Amino acid sequence: MEILTSPGAMRAWSREQRVLGKKIALVPTMGFFHQGHLSLMRMAARHGDAVVVSLFVNPIQFGPNEDLDRYPRSFTKDCELAGQEGVAVVFAPEAADMYPAGFQTTVSVEQLSRSLCGADRPGHFNGVTTVVSKLFHLVQPDMAVFGQKDFQQLSIIRRMVRDLDMGIEILAHPIVREPDGLAMSSRNVYLNEQQRRSALSLSGGIALARSLYTDGLLDTAVLKEKVREHILSYPGTAVDYISFVDRSSLEPVDRADQETLLALAVSIDGRVRLIDNGLLVGTG
Ligand code: AMP
Repeated sequence: MEILTSPGAMRAWSREQRVLGKKIALVPTMGFFHQGHLSLMRMAARHGDAVVVSLFVNPIQFGPNEDLDRYPRSFTKDCELAGQEGVAVVFAPEAADMYPAGFQTTVSVEQLSRSLCGADRPGHFNGVTTVVSKLFHLVQPDMAVFGQKDFQQLSIIRRMVRDLDMGIEILAHPIVREPDGLAMSSRNVYLNEQQRRSALSLSGGIALARSLYTDGLLDTAVLKEKVREHILSYPGTAVDYISFVDRSSLEPVDRADQETLLALAVSIDGRVRLIDNGLLVGTG
């Protein structure tokens, strides 16, 4: 496996592969790999001939009071894990090379970026779409894999690819969970034992909404209150948002149906912000 840090070297490698007729599959990440990341790499390997994993903690998608400085990092271990998955290249650029002095161009997907996490984290998704565009230009992949854990991000990337004719196939991987239901996340490492128990309020809230929906409760205002009560019954939890939205438009819906997605963001002890989501008819 090669480890490339220079954008120029990355571009040159991809050019060679494309001349050889290889289909490149990209998995963009911020590192500190868990089974979720590794599952995305396996999916990429099933669909492409050569897998590139980008590992970049993207400063422009973090707000001023967010966790950029303490975001967990483990570069050596990550490279080892990627190597075991048969990844061809880990691309780990420096922030100064991605955003040299004078950098001022951004990509913005207007409407889809406003709701849910976009409302709580102004500028976050512009940071994401800008870095993903840059990665697409540097890596020139035929396809890229994203996790449904970040459902809004996935919708925004799909829209961007369509709107800007990027011609890259976007593959979605279902949410990978711990045995007790907690969605895997690099940020779970922040949780102490008590907070780890409270983190189950998210998957528990989704399970509750699903069972109430299956029993015929369709009014999302009522569902929302039930989910809120459930989440707040765990110590230290505060709700950032509970939203029942249409899975395609991400617009809120009053009456739940099989297209309805429940998206949640919960802060624990005001320190760790976790997200989760699920379709009301789903299981993942
Ligand atoms: P991150 O390193 O957290 O930016 O995540 C990199 C990619 O992995 C994104 O496409 C995420 O949606 C995806 N991902 C992270 N956690 C999970 C998970 N538990 N299940 C599925 N995909 C995930």
